[in-house]
This record gives sequence, structure tokens and C-alpha cells, in this order.
Amino acid sequence: MNTKQFIVTSGKAFRIGDISPDFTNGKVKGEAIDLQVEENMKEMARLQDILYAHNKYGILIILQAMDAAGKDSTIKHIMSGFNPQGVNVKSFKAPSAEEMDHDYLWRSHLHLPERGNIAIFNRSYYEDVVVVKVHKLLASHNIPEDLIGDNVWQERYRQIRDFEKYMEENGIIVIKFFLHISKDEQCKRLLERLDNPEKNWKFSSADLEERQHWDKYQNTYEEMLRETATEYAPWHIIPANKKWFARLLISEIVKENMGKLPIKYPVMTSEDKNALESYRQQLCGKV
Ligand code: AMP
Ligand code: MG
Repeated sequence: MNTKQFIVTSGKAFRIGDISPDFTNGKVKGEAIDLQVEENMKEMARLQDILYAHNKYGILIILQAMDAAGKDSTIKHIMSGFNPQGVNVKSFKAPSAEEMDHDYLWRSHLHLPERGNIAIFNRSYYEDVVVVKVHKLLASHNIPEDLIGDNVWQERYRQIRDFEKYMEENGIIVIKFFLHISKDEQCKRLLERLDNPEKNWKFSSADLEERQHWDKYQNTYEEMLRETATEYAPWHIIPANKKWFARLLISEIVKENMGKLPIKYPVMTSEDKNALESYRQQLCGKV
């Protein structure tokens, strides 16, 4: 599938309303899609093995979205293709007292991937320019008042672009996804949480409260996406009303990004090979 149409590298022309959350690129749910996702995941696992052995690049996958857009189930799904040894998942909640005592990028920095590894962020430092902006939480985040000026959001967007540039220049590949659902689809999914006893635990009255701010969130997300889409860390806008399509697209994009990396299994020098031969002779008392 051509994934280009879902990539935003410059926010100038980007409008969230231009993308339908129902879009499926003419595809229909079925066995062929399942097979394609399975194939993508096999390829991702093959590349992950090389990434791990090469041990130089790290991959950071960021998932941002409104509630019930499918972040958790995407992670469950994508994760199942990877070797757990090389993957860490981190979910970011409202900051703890300790986190609040640091700058907002601190807690994310702690969880950046090791070289050779993949980190998946369920929410991220983008919450600090989304929920914090929508709910005007900045004043409660222990920041000196004289630093909270009119330009504070522009400054944060710049800090985030710089942080992502820093990651790129240090071998961390950032792959960002915005899972785009409609307000109606969110309603359906939240109702499902109320109706299905196995999903009751997922329902939070906070989701109801957040839903009241839907339009404000959409505007804030649009601004954030426009301001932080770059060539080196583009946003991928995933039409996510159909979970099967979101999975197909995300697996495709992760596979493509991993495939572009100049990674390979370490090559043995002739000295290494000689050493192996000597080890072989020493093993099991055969010297
Ligand atoms: P969930 O992902 O459903 O477990 O919810 C986590 C909650 O934590 C969401 O309501 C987020 O908006 C909130 N959250 C995450 N990061 C921040 C932050 N930096 N400041 C305030 N709230 C946050
Ligand atoms: Mg939740």
C-alpha cells in the first residue's frame, strides 16, 4: 500500500478535517488483510533481530489519540510480533509528584530506547501541549510564572522539534502516529465499555468529561500536529474508525521505517573467525 498519503512532514497545508476517520483506501476487512498484517509482522520481527544485533539505532514509536481510539489494542497487536526482549512499552499518565518536580521532557527521556531496542510510548510529551493546553494545567506544573508567557506553546513546539532532532542526530528513529477517530465512533466504543462486562473496567468517568471538550481537543491536536510535523520526525495520520485498517497501516509504516535503516548483522573479521576456531577447539575439552 502507498503510505505516503498518510505522512505529514510539514504542517503548513495540514487540516485534520481533510482526513476521514472512516477511510480504508478501498480495502475491505477480510482474510487478505489479516494475511498482509501477519506478513508485515514477520518482516518487523526479522528486522528487529538485525536492529538488536547491530545495536546502534533505537526506535521510538509514539501513539497519540483521543480516548478509545485504539492505542492499547494497537500496542497489544504490534507487540505480539516483536521479541519482548528488545521492546519496552511506557504509558504516560498525569505526572506524579516526582515527575512534576522536573522539566516535562525528563520522564520521556528516561524511557527512550536503548540502542538496538524499540520503545513504544502510549501517550508522550505531546500530552504537555495537548491535555495541558486544553485544561490550562501549566500553572499547576511548578513552572516559574515569569516563564509562562504568550509564546509558551510556540516555545514548547520548538523544544519538541529540537528534542526530536536531537534524537535523530543520536540514532533514535522517531515514528509518530495519530490515531484519528470520529466523535460517533468514540461514542460507540465508550458504550461498548459500559455494555460489555469484560470491558467495564476500561470505562472511566474522566472519558465522559474529556468528551465534552471534543472540539477543543481536535483544534489543539490540529495545531500540535501542524507545528511538530517535520521531515526528520513526521506524523502519520491513521484513519482509525476501522481497527483492522489502522493495524494494517501501522504495521506497514513500522515495517517500512525499519526497512529503511542501514542495519546489518555484525560482520566477523578474519581475526574474529580465527578466534572462533580456537574456541571451537577449546570447547568440551577437545584441546
Ligand atoms: P489513560 O491513557 O486512559 O490511562 O489516561 C491517562 C491520562 O493521563 C489521560 O487522561 C491523559 O490526558 C493524562 N495525562 C498524560 N500525560 C499528562 C500530562 N503531562 N499532564 C496531564 N495529564 C496527563
Ligand atoms: Mg483511558
